[in-house]
Amino acid sequence: MECIFCRIAEKKLPSKILFEDERSIAFEDINPQAPVHVLVIPKKHISTVLELKKEDRELIGQLFLVANIVAKEKGIAERGFRLVLNCNREAGQTVFHIHLHLLGGRPMQWPPG
Ligand code: AMP
Ligand code: ZN
Repeated sequence: MECIFCRIAEKKLPSKILFEDERSIAFEDINPQAPVHVLVIPKKHISTVLELKKEDRELIGQLFLVANIVAKEKGIAERGFRLVLNCNREAGQTVFHIHLHLLGGRPMQWPPG
């Protein structure tokens, strides 16, 4: 099955890449919900958080470290930002390749919608 985020990771689909290493990639969200809206994904295809395996633990930790780097580079680290990971229908997951949303550059509401 075609996965758009696998295609982005393989550079077969264009995206604005902000960070990349051997296991992960960060790129601008195509439909930003805040002045800063970046998606951090593993290059490995994992459809939802429910599919995570024990051997993915380090990989998932890596996504947070990349978000940390990008938040600093975007200048939103001190003022604050939000990390979101949606799982399945009621959370609003639309792309079934796990991705960490990095959102910032404006005040955030709580609770989220
Ligand atoms: P979610 O609702 O958590 O599954 O989030 C999917 C996100 O992917 C949404 O914020 C979309 O705007 C974003 N998105 C979908 N297609 C692309 C794309 N080709 N490039 C960048 N972001 C995308
Ligand atoms: Zn994928």
